[in-house]
Amino acid sequence: MSTYVRPGSVDEALELLASGGAAVLAGGTDLAGQIDRGISSPSLLVDLQGAGLGGIEADGNGIRIGATATLAEVASSALVEPYAAVATAARSAASPLLRNQGTVGGNLCQHTRCWYYRGEEWTCWLGGGDTCYAQIGEHRKHNLEPGDCISAHPSDLAPALAACGAAVVLRSAGGERELPLLDLYRRPTEDNRSLVVVEPGELVAAVRLPEPPDASSYLRTGERQAFSFPLVAVAAARRGDEVTLVAAGVANIPRALDPADPLEGLPGNPQTGWKRTVLATLVERAVAQL
Ligand SMILES: Cc1cc2nc3c(=O)[nH]c(=O)nc-3n(C[C@H](O)[C@H](O)[C@H](O)COP(=O)(O)OP(=O)(O)OC[C@H]3O[C@@H](n4cnc5c(N)ncnc54)[C@H](O)[C@@H]3O)c2cc1C
Ligand code: SF4
Repeated sequence: MSTYVRPGSVDEALELLASGGAAVLAGGTDLAGQIDRGISSPSLLVDLQGAGLGGIEADGNGIRIGATATLAEVASSALVEPYAAVATAARSAASPLLRNQGTVGGNLCQHTRCWYYRGEEWTCWLGGGDTCYAQIGEHRKHNLEPGDCISAHPSDLAPALAACGAAVVLRSAGGERELPLLDLYRRPTEDNRSLVVVEPGELVAAVRLPEPPDASSYLRTGERQAFSFPLVAVAAARRGDEVTLVAAGVANIPRALDPADPLEGLPGNPQTGWKRTVLATLVERAVAQL
């Protein structure tokens, strides 16, 4: 059983998060499922909705998106429109109900959808066990990168924000740090199975975008056109002659791709080879849109 608190400021939220066993609650669309499946069992739920972390505002030549801004707010913001990849990604994610409830911070920090990780019957390697059941079982939706965990990164927003040059602002009781968005993510290791670098007691406060790229695009495939996680997604952005490519669905974290050789380091597994073809096609089409 968890205790629920709704602090009225970010400082109060950080103080509460500093106590062991606390978890950040934003829209709850992912955390509720984690708790339901026994993946997380926080003693304290710290609801950020009253902490003043929302809104989308101008920030120098760029913009700042608060962690509790919803996906729907990002999708419809005139300030986000010049970042076409980000606006498209926000419009593509999940369903209208989930976009109204799900937040930017929660979308970036959501856990993998791997069916073994989410299944109550298994404690897989990422969940703290010894075995990656996907590698000996069903992995047709998993990733292309070799490793201990072959789950596929699920966020639409992460690759789009990263391609447009975003940074993420993290806050804790000890202060604030700002990282390039891709550095929010880490490959899990034997002694630390987390896929994000967020420390206990720390939260994502905002995402900052520099001035808009000259052009950007976002393309994804899902099982359906709507209400379907991205199986493979590619965000592309161009500043002058320089093209940045970032993909989701092909590694367990969002992955920067080399425009000269986007499939490099992504051999795939017996059931995921098809993703290589899709990735190559999406890269070609996303770059053609720039
Ligand atoms: C049926 C379904 C379909 C979906 N389809 C898609 C899709 O197509 N594309 C896509 O991108 N996503 C999809 N999602 C995921 C959805 O977008 C996320 O669940 C949502 O964005 C999470 O936001 P939230 O505010 O509800 O996070 P919560 O559920 O509140 O939190 C999610 C996780 O992030 C942590 N967290 C939340 N906010 C912060 C913060 N500020 N700082 C640090 N940690 C934080 C929480 O502790 C928790 O671990 C889908 C989800 C469902 C249930
Ligand atoms: S792919 Fe990762 S999350 Fe899925 S079973 Fe393997 S270790 Fe667990």
